[in-house]
Amino acid sequence: MRIDTDAIVVGAGGAALWAALELAHEGVQTAVLTKLYPTRSHTGAAQGGVCAALGNLEEDHWEWHMFDTVKGGDYLSDQDAAEVLAREAIERVIELEHMGLPFNRTPEGKIDQRRFGGHTRDFGEAPVKRACYAADRTGHMILQTLYQQCIKAGVRFYDEYHVVDLLFEGGDANEGGRAAGVVAYRIADGEIHTFRAKAVLLATGGYGRAWRITSNAYSLAGDGMALAYRRGVPLEDMEFYQFHPTGVYGIGILLSEAARGEGGTLLNRDGERFMARYAPRLMELAPRDMVSRAMYLEIRDGRGIDGKDYLFLDVSHLGRKVIEEKLPDITDFARIYLGVEPLREPVPVQPTAHYAMGGVPTDLSARVLRDETGALVPGLYAAGEAACVSVHGANRLGTNSLVDLLVFGRRAGKAMAEDVRGGTLPEIAADADEPVRAEIEALRTRAVGERPDTIRAEMTRLMDEKVGVFRDATLLSTAVERIGELRERYARVVVADRGTTFNTDLLETRELGYLLDCAQATAASALARKESRGAHSREDYPERNDAAWLAHTFAFRRDDAQPDLRYKPVSITRFEPKPRTY
Ligand SMILES: Cc1cc2nc3c(=O)[nH]c(=O)nc-3n(C[C@H](O)[C@H](O)[C@H](O)COP(=O)(O)OP(=O)(O)OC[C@H]3O[C@@H](n4cnc5c(N)ncnc54)[C@H](O)[C@@H]3O)c2cc1C
Repeated sequence: MRIDTDAIVVGAGGAALWAALELAHEGVQTAVLTKLYPTRSHTGAAQGGVCAALGNLEEDHWEWHMFDTVKGGDYLSDQDAAEVLAREAIERVIELEHMGLPFNRTPEGKIDQRRFGGHTRDFGEAPVKRACYAADRTGHMILQTLYQQCIKAGVRFYDEYHVVDLLFEGGDANEGGRAAGVVAYRIADGEIHTFRAKAVLLATGGYGRAWRITSNAYSLAGDGMALAYRRGVPLEDMEFYQFHPTGVYGIGILLSEAARGEGGTLLNRDGERFMARYAPRLMELAPRDMVSRAMYLEIRDGRGIDGKDYLFLDVSHLGRKVIEEKLPDITDFARIYLGVEPLREPVPVQPTAHYAMGGVPTDLSARVLRDETGALVPGLYAAGEAACVSVHGANRLGTNSLVDLLVFGRRAGKAMAEDVRGGTLPEIAADADEPVRAEIEALRTRAVGERPDTIRAEMTRLMDEKVGVFRDATLLSTAVERIGELRERYARVVVADRGTTFNTDLLETRELGYLLDCAQATAASALARKESRGAHSREDYPERNDAAWLAHTFAFRRDDAQPDLRYKPVSITRFEPKPRTY
């Protein structure tokens, strides 16, 4: 089936929904395609908060928020983008409140705020309460609120449509083509549908499933990033992948930083608050890259609990009232998954793969960049975790992702509405869906080959061991080589389910292909960057090197070879790079 519309939004997480809402308010006919039912999008898993310098409990200013974002990002954040984020965060959170989001309140009825890592007052002096929250279900409330608003505004949803290709008019993105639509596989019956539009937004989330220990749901497979990459769009700063310090030991499910924001402590086998040695001022509220590194160093020096590869998160001193009112879900996770009672006992934790700072490069209006010169791909937009604008630089601060969705999701919607006004629908061939149809058919009918499970297990183990918190040339070269081999093996993969009804075997196998593309871009970009910055920590190049590396990586895909890497200068408007201490 072929469907024409003015705008397409791929995804139904926070970034997508705000864009769709904006488009609806502008009267633009929009199709939202999502492989998950909208309220199952991963934004719903976000726990701790969304930050804005409201100053409800303590003095605060957007300039402090901007500074923290840039410093937290180890000066790789584009400062024009960080300024937009910090300024507009305030309006967006208040707008959400007006839409009905049930934030926790202060006794006077204002939005309550709490501390989060790296958010400070007076340009780094002391922690500040900046995270607005709804218990530890902030993302769930954002998603529900935006979805209700979209329904009210009459947004058209195509639920459980899995987008499998992007369409362009006049050649792929690297050939100067214009975005023209998408091809989607309807999960219920395996039918292929072609959607044509004047503007397309990718808001498909991250790719944490490339690692074994991860906080990310199974659905986070880098779909939008890989689909764009395959059509000639570069991927920016993929070497900067965040490991969150407090994943449930052994499985990676997240225990939000809110636990530390409320006063939770990290302890080693000696019961010592070891962060005092690594970040004496902010302690457990130092940025995530620093806390995760400190945890690895403790474990490596034999101070893991019982000499093993985990440490303790202790919230037992916070008392029942704080835990039940502010941290109910994450303390339940400890009970359910580990059988630990956080009211009385410390919880075993380890760093977990969590968030992509990199992604599809965009400008401040969420328009996708074709290359490092800043040339645009007409009609193509990206927002949310799939995009790299780049506000988070080399390391994102907690609560800055949700606000990124709100600010740049809205900006995407506004820019798309402008773009489609008066324009004409692009031309696409009647058989534009043929290449991906053929790929899917080949996958469905291939008789002999390897099952995807072994490739997935090898990829995730490889990423854990060689593209983790600490890296060096030997680890990364091995990762690059082995991911190359896995991609070759993937070309001969077979599925067990040959059917068309809810064939999750087929779709998960396609997702594995997306993950391999993202993993390759990550490892190759990391191998090339010979410095340590933010979440990219090279033991063979332990220092940040601004003279050589104050630049964004742009990785361009090649079919049978490593990606081409080029570099783009960082936008520095206010804060000159300085050593980063906390
Ligand atoms: C456990 C956890 C807790 C977190 N807590 C916080 C927090 O407290 N504060 C904070 O700021 N950040 C937090 N984050 C990060 C933040 O939640 C995410 O970065 C953010 O929600 C991503 O939103 P998104 O809109 O980009 O995409 P998502 O919400 O991930 O949505 C992706 C959408 O894309 C769709 N999609 C994907 N591929 C396809 C395809 N091929 N075809 C069709 N549709 C597709 C999916 O169906 C889904 O609707 C947390 C993350 C995790 C994992």
